[in-house]
Amino acid sequence: MNLLLIEDDKTVVDSLIPFLKERGFVVDVAFDGEVGLDKAKKNNYDIIILDKGLPKKDGLEVCANIRSAGKQTPILILSVKSEIGTKADLLNAGADDYMTKPFAFQELIARVNALLRRPKEVLHTKFEFGDIIADFEGRKTTRGGKEIHLTTKEFSLLEYLFRNRSKAISRMEILEHVWDVNADPFTNTVETHILTLRKKIRDKNGKIIQTVSNVGYKID
Ligand code: CA
Repeated sequence: MNLLLIEDDKTVVDSLIPFLKERGFVVDVAFDGEVGLDKAKKNNYDIIILDKGLPKKDGLEVCANIRSAGKQTPILILSVKSEIGTKADLLNAGADDYMTKPFAFQELIARVNALLRRPKEVLHTKFEFGDIIADFEGRKTTRGGKEIHLTTKEFSLLEYLFRNRSKAISRMEILEHVWDVNADPFTNTVETHILTLRKKIRDKNGKIIQTVSNVGYKID
């Protein structure tokens, strides 16, 4: 999942990035409202964490501008208590949720994950295929109860395909969401990772991760 963090407080950014990366997020950062808005309009992020008090353009204005540009990306606003007007202001600007600073990182992740779930699938955090279970909350994969070790990228790749299941996902989409919006489109890293992932989950015939010719991959 790729995430845009728009936050001018370097201390918050420096402590949040390793925490988010450890949980499999690809993080892009903007330190002011203008750059943040530009990135949000140009790229397709899975989620945006947006600080309210920002240089150049206020967070609420950035949020409203993202929405008026037609982007439906879930937005979580961060704010110090004194900055918050009413909850209605945040919702009117098009925010999906907000948190007041200081906040616990665990709570931030819980809220981010809640926003990433498709609306009708609140309870769907586990993927079961035969004796394979991938637990996206606990970030663990098992086969017949025994853990299969997946790297953070492999796990994120599986998770991305799962969250978009029944849909063929192109290599470019995978590259953009699981790697980085600036990833090199000519690399074969997606293919390599699909290959090792299939080996690890013993998906020799591509039954779990299907190849859709001329499109990409899908989980059904
Ligand atoms: Ca700030």
